[in-house]
Amino acid sequence: MPLYFCKRTMKFKYDVLVIGGGHAGCEAATAAANMGARTCLITMDMNKIGQMSCNPAVGGIAKGQIVREIDALGGYMGLVTDATAIQFRMLNRSKGPAVWSPRAQCDRGKFIWEWRTILDHTDNLDIFQDQADELLVKDRKVLGIRTIWGIEIYARTVVITAGTFLNGLMHIGKRKVEGGRCAEPAVHHFTESITRHGITSERMKTGTPVRIDRRSVHFEDMEPQPGETDYHQFSFFGPQRKLPQLPCWTCNTNEEVHEVLRSGLADSLYSMVRSKVQDHVIALQ
Ligand SMILES: Cc1cc2nc3c(=O)[nH]c(=O)nc-3n(C[C@H](O)[C@H](O)[C@H](O)COP(=O)(O)OP(=O)(O)OC[C@H]3O[C@@H](n4cnc5c(N)ncnc54)[C@H](O)[C@@H]3O)c2cc1C
Repeated sequence: MPLYFCKRTMKFKYDVLVIGGGHAGCEAATAAANMGARTCLITMDMNKIGQMSCNPAVGGIAKGQIVREIDALGGYMGLVTDATAIQFRMLNRSKGPAVWSPRAQCDRGKFIWEWRTILDHTDNLDIFQDQADELLVKDRKVLGIRTIWGIEIYARTVVITAGTFLNGLMHIGKRKVEGGRCAEPAVHHFTESITRHGITSERMKTGTPVRIDRRSVHFEDMEPQPGETDYHQFSFFGPQRKLPQLPCWTCNTNEEVHEVLRSGLADSLYSMVRSKVQDHVIALQ
């Protein structure tokens, strides 16, 4: 590990520093390291590397094509998806092959460990569990970062892939809770640190369905939707899917459900409008 000390601070020096071990950060870190750059991936929780924030699904329209493009460029997302897929479907088959769209449901826990194994076996790559707190800049040139523990990591290139964590805010109905995603803290000071240097920060809205307890589901009233058993997968390089494939289950809404949705619509719009106002306040600060 490239390390040197000054009187009071522990310092590290790399070619490339990647902040955030999500999907984007893992690809960025492995790409840099595989090209021979001494690379450090700093992330808040090493046990949640490549965590699937929402549905444990990869692909679908547009994202499925991107995953295959990443695969063609030598990235890992397709390989990790195939290795952990528990259901695969090619969407849009009723249309022409140009718009066919691969989508896999994955085992969320295995997805994390598959990524972690790849990172652990990548030469030139160190993983550091900490939180970037301050961007170090001199004469408008990025030098590195300081972490919340006061450690300084210098690099010729700094890649920020902080996902939904910068000033992250979660909305459930009328309630708002600060957080990067459920059970993980938002990152505050770092956002101010990067915006101070003229990098604009915006928040995108995302949404996730509630998690349900399978013991409370009436499977007898639902329709099984098996996965496809033909050869399709994400990566053109790796072995076939290896985990046992499981069905999904579908059901339809009815008038009663529509009424519940209608009665909550105003609250949903209220929370979105509040979120927009808050974004403007942050932008003005
Ligand atoms: C509630 C929710 C629902 C979603 N639903 C979907 C969906 O249905 N389909 C879909 O395709 N996508 C969905 N997404 C988006 C999904 O999160 C992204 O596609 C994907 O996770 C983005 O990857 P990423 O690497 O950019 O960021 P993330 O996966 O968010 O990873 C960011 C990483 O950066 C780390 N980090 C952040 N700040 C710092 C710091 N200062 N120092 C060190 N580490 C830091 C975090 O710990 C985390 O590991 C959803 C996201 C959320 C939050």
